[in-house]
Amino acid sequence: MSPLFRVALDTPLRRLFDYTTPVAGGAAPQVGARVRVPFGRRTLVGIVLGTAEESAVPAERLKPILEILDPRPVLSPDVVELLAWASQYYQHPIGEVAMAALPRALRLGAAAARRSESWQATAEGREAAAVGEPRRAPRQQALLARIAQLGPCPAEVLDRDGEWRTAARALRARGWVEQRELDVAEAVAVSAAPNDPAPQLLAGQADAVERISASLGRYDAFVLQGITGSGKTEVYLHVIERVLRAGRRALVLVPEIGLTPQLVQRFHARLGVPPAVLHSGLTDAERLQAWRAAWQGTAAIVLGTRSAVFAPVPDLGLIVVDEEHDASFKQHEGGWHYSARDLAVLRAHHAGVPVVLGSATPSLETLHNAGTARYTHLRLTERAGAATPPQLKLIDLRSHAVRTGISTPAVLAISKHLAAGDQVLVYLNRRGYAPTLLCTACGWIAPCRECDARMTVHLAHQRLRCHHCGADSPLPAACPQCGYPVRPVGAGTERIEQTLQELFPQAPIARLDRDVVRRRDDMEEIMRRVAGGEARILVGTQMVTKGHDFPNVTLVVVLNADQGLFSSDFRASERLAQTIVQVAGRAGRGSRPGEVLIQTEFPDHPLLRQLLAEGYDGFAQVALEERAQAHWPPFSRLAALRDSARTPQAALLFLREARALAGEAADVRLLGPVPAAMARRAGRHHAQLLIESPDRTRLQAFLTEWLPQVEALKSARAVRWSLDVDPQELF
Ligand code: ADP
Ligand code: ZN
Ligand code: ZN
Repeated sequence: MSPLFRVALDTPLRRLFDYTTPVAGGAAPQVGARVRVPFGRRTLVGIVLGTAEESAVPAERLKPILEILDPRPVLSPDVVELLAWASQYYQHPIGEVAMAALPRALRLGAAAARRSESWQATAEGREAAAVGEPRRAPRQQALLARIAQLGPCPAEVLDRDGEWRTAARALRARGWVEQRELDVAEAVAVSAAPNDPAPQLLAGQADAVERISASLGRYDAFVLQGITGSGKTEVYLHVIERVLRAGRRALVLVPEIGLTPQLVQRFHARLGVPPAVLHSGLTDAERLQAWRAAWQGTAAIVLGTRSAVFAPVPDLGLIVVDEEHDASFKQHEGGWHYSARDLAVLRAHHAGVPVVLGSATPSLETLHNAGTARYTHLRLTERAGAATPPQLKLIDLRSHAVRTGISTPAVLAISKHLAAGDQVLVYLNRRGYAPTLLCTACGWIAPCRECDARMTVHLAHQRLRCHHCGADSPLPAACPQCGYPVRPVGAGTERIEQTLQELFPQAPIARLDRDVVRRRDDMEEIMRRVAGGEARILVGTQMVTKGHDFPNVTLVVVLNADQGLFSSDFRASERLAQTIVQVAGRAGRGSRPGEVLIQTEFPDHPLLRQLLAEGYDGFAQVALEERAQAHWPPFSRLAALRDSARTPQAALLFLREARALAGEAADVRLLGPVPAAMARRAGRHHAQLLIESPDRTRLQAFLTEWLPQVEALKSARAVRWSLDVDPQELF
């Protein structure tokens, strides 16, 4: 029996579909190639993920593939393997997983290679042209003469002479001409010609480059830990140069916000070839173009955000994940929750290449892997360019006067640094003018109608906005309940900017948050004002913590460290420590030492004390001990079954029934269901059921058996639900 092809189709069904060899031509598709197949009454584009000898479907019901779209696979074997694994691990339908690996244009059937159509004369055609045939068809005669004279002739060239296809078809019918399809660029050899000179490496950098390079050609995982500005990117560049010299290519993943034009420019200038850049802001056409550059190998490196982990990289030699702790590597939207960082490690494993996870503040999972010798821990301790690490100090908010969120010691420090001609960064993780609008008479607080949340005041736009559902209404002039005046309470970045302007009227201020950055260019413009020294104070949300280099910032003020100290999410303290260290790293990157002030109402909190006394490493050690005691990851494995419904009862009902299905499974604990911390969002009620196991394989086995039953529940149809394996946020 001829083999069957197992095809992934974009359906929520948890399986592949079997098809027989195409009738026309009889050629067999390769694994990783797209095909067009009949599916019910429709025709779909799918991807061949495997072959089989027999099928559960009776032979007479099997249908043939209609068309092979790719003579050369669009998914390489390492990516096919990665997707199959990911579908299993994240318990997500293989068809949706496989399709997520391709740009939309390819899912819709666009050609993978940019192809050029050309026409050439056959031997008989050349003889016929020589004697002036076909005499009675002047158009065909002229066309044949032209094609015979030119040799393989691109269709675009023929197009210049007006309509020619009718004549070409007639000539082809006589066997005098033939049509050829050529890939414009077949996979080309890597040719890199660096133009920017590399700096002399510091000892720590040189050691890291040697250790990683020694693993080229086989799987190995490295954690490259070094504060911002310690020269991690320089290490990546050096190793990548070696990868390119060996005729291989590299894949570099960065957080969404870290992918700046400067970074792309730095890679381009140093490696001498433009990277193929993939991020979420591309149009379909741009994405296809970048994907093609990667697939055809014209790009020597692929630089991208989360979903670039699936990008085609022929002759892959190295994977880098920069800022590996960053939350944006975990996919949250849509039904499929995957960690691009974890998949990057897996892909490196399948491809047999080293992977480097870089960060100033590695995640506790990654540090645990380093601690148990699964990853090699490399550290950069000196700062490049003679910069010294900043000094961290706490300001006790209970014992100092505070004006709209800024304490007197912070004001004094700011004026001192400004007077010295330096720049100041003020960090607050809250945008808008004020988080609350309060009635001074009756106590009314502006609520969001759709969420369990308050509306945020946006004074400049005279709006009230909900940061959870996007609700937006005019700012009321008086209390809608009693008519007395209303007052904004608390401070967001907009208000802090105003206060600082009042305190320091001479100092130009720049603000960086999602309200002022609407497009990528806005960010560049703000960065330019800060980097050029035009702005003296920068106020911003966590947007300020990533990517950019501000050599003249000598003071960083963290206005409120307390969100995160008492959260119910066990990861909150890790995230807080990372943010503080990252934002502190913005200070003193030039030759002068930096100062970091952290305002808090809990100066005795063990986390803050630990962080100040022993830095991130000390914090991480204590935090890992706590996790071990509480059996939280990385000392256990978690999955979250989440849902939302129109009523709290419906949300809980589905999860209760799901829990009841679980029965008694060894080594698997179910926790909940409970309503989410903010239960009502955008008019829907959210709830969650946690599944915990000390062992990854047990958890997977449990989920594989349980989920199809959950899916079949009648109550599942009344809710929106999704499963998140290794959830990064618990709510
Ligand atoms: P990170 O990625 O850790 O933030 P970078 O590699 O971007 O660090 O280095 C920070 C700055 O120091 C950059 O401007 C870089 O060009 C410079 N730099 C890095 N390594 C060296 C070195 N060995 N000698 C001189 N300058 C260096
Ligand atoms: Zn009132
Ligand atoms: Zn809302």
